[in-house]
Amino acid sequence: MLDYVGLEADLDEEERMIRDTAREFVADRVKPDIGDHFENGTFPEELIGEMGDLGFYAPNLEGYGSPNVSETAYGLLMQELEAGDSGIRSMASVQGALVMYPIRAFGSEDQKERWLPDLGSGDAVGCFGLTEPEHGSDPASMETTAERADGSAGRGAHDADGYVLNGAKTWITNAPIADLALVWARDVSDPDRPIRGFLVETEREGVRTNEIDGKLSMRASATGEVALDDAFVPAANVLPGVSGMKGPLSCLTQARYGIAWGAVGAARDCFEAAREYATDREQFGKPIGGFQLQQEKLAEMATRITTAQLLAHRLADLKERDELRPQQVSMAKRNNVRMAREQAGVAREMLGGNGITTDYPPMRHRANMETVYTYEGTHDIHSLILGEDLTGIAAFE
Ligand SMILES: Cc1cc2nc3c(=O)[nH]c(=O)nc-3n(C[C@H](O)[C@H](O)[C@H](O)COP(=O)(O)OP(=O)(O)OC[C@H]3O[C@@H](n4cnc5c(N)ncnc54)[C@H](O)[C@@H]3O)c2cc1C
Repeated sequence: MLDYVGLEADLDEEERMIRDTAREFVADRVKPDIGDHFENGTFPEELIGEMGDLGFYAPNLEGYGSPNVSETAYGLLMQELEAGDSGIRSMASVQGALVMYPIRAFGSEDQKERWLPDLGSGDAVGCFGLTEPEHGSDPASMETTAERADGSAGRGAHDADGYVLNGAKTWITNAPIADLALVWARDVSDPDRPIRGFLVETEREGVRTNEIDGKLSMRASATGEVALDDAFVPAANVLPGVSGMKGPLSCLTQARYGIAWGAVGAARDCFEAAREYATDREQFGKPIGGFQLQQEKLAEMATRITTAQLLAHRLADLKERDELRPQQVSMAKRNNVRMAREQAGVAREMLGGNGITTDYPPMRHRANMETVYTYEGTHDIHSLILGEDLTGIAAFE
């Protein structure tokens, strides 16, 4: 596997073990069927519990069953899972960084005990509902509301100590298979109308999760809507430790960190496929890898992957020291995903006609990267985050 400047020589024993476990899992359990899942538009649900057993959900958290592994180990895990498929990494990212992390960071003791062990083992699946049909890059304008139940409004409002949620979230990873949706909604009963996080069990009355069909990207991932129609949740389901956009944004920083690593895995898988193909496939009497044009592509791919790896490893060091700034994560997400998107295209090209099939990974990764380029802050939005950080002038509006 490409590790051109020997970064992995510095890994400790636990980091190597986690990398190897994930690599083996991907080789044995993901790679053989992922092309079929991609073609059929299905998520391999049988892997949910297996990934829990292997400790793939938020192992970088502490307590409640999570072993608190290093940020490098967590990054390597994301890298290996995405070398399998972005759909697998997305499932684990959402579960870990977007549902377990906020419960761990902002949840009550009861919420942590109720959900963290089940989410960690894969006995429960979580999703994160921030995006709405009319509000993607600008989630602070969200329209989903939470209104304090007073015993007269809404279904189930017989329990006065709670909230009634109304609105719609869309493009929600895991929604069709989720037991729990972390829904971000505006608390309209509070004069300041803050955004709060609500733990909404998907079996509650008034909650619907519909699958989104017709995706040409991230096909081996369950993506859906979360519709809330007078859905009552008890007050005990509100995340008590956070209000305002800081809640969802801090989760996104965690998830984007994983994406910066994951994208490297997808690109590396494309590189390995292209390198192997270039040494096997003969045209004009010799392997295509013997032509300078193909060597230039491999050289560029290896260089771009290596620089992205360096950035990911540096992020891990900063995160470990608690010095990582969200803007640095934006830089890495923006750079590494663009790199993976471009290099997957180059690898696809090197495989000729075979490159457009699911028999080889580059086209599938390339298609997935269209989503990864867009979700968790589009490439443009990360440019604006960096632009503001570098100039002190916000250019979002
Ligand atoms: C497969 C998939 C899974 C997803 N999973 C989740 C999930 O689990 N949870 C969740 O909450 N969301 C999820 N999303 C949603 C994702 O985060 C949004 O799609 C993303 O934030 C962009 O929002 P949008 O699609 O509404 O695009 P828009 O915000 O409408 O943007 C459209 C275009 O305009 C550009 N643009 C927007 N604002 C500006 C500006 N100020 N300046 C310049 N250009 C701008 C964007 O860069 C983009 O190119 C997922 C999306 C996909 C495709």
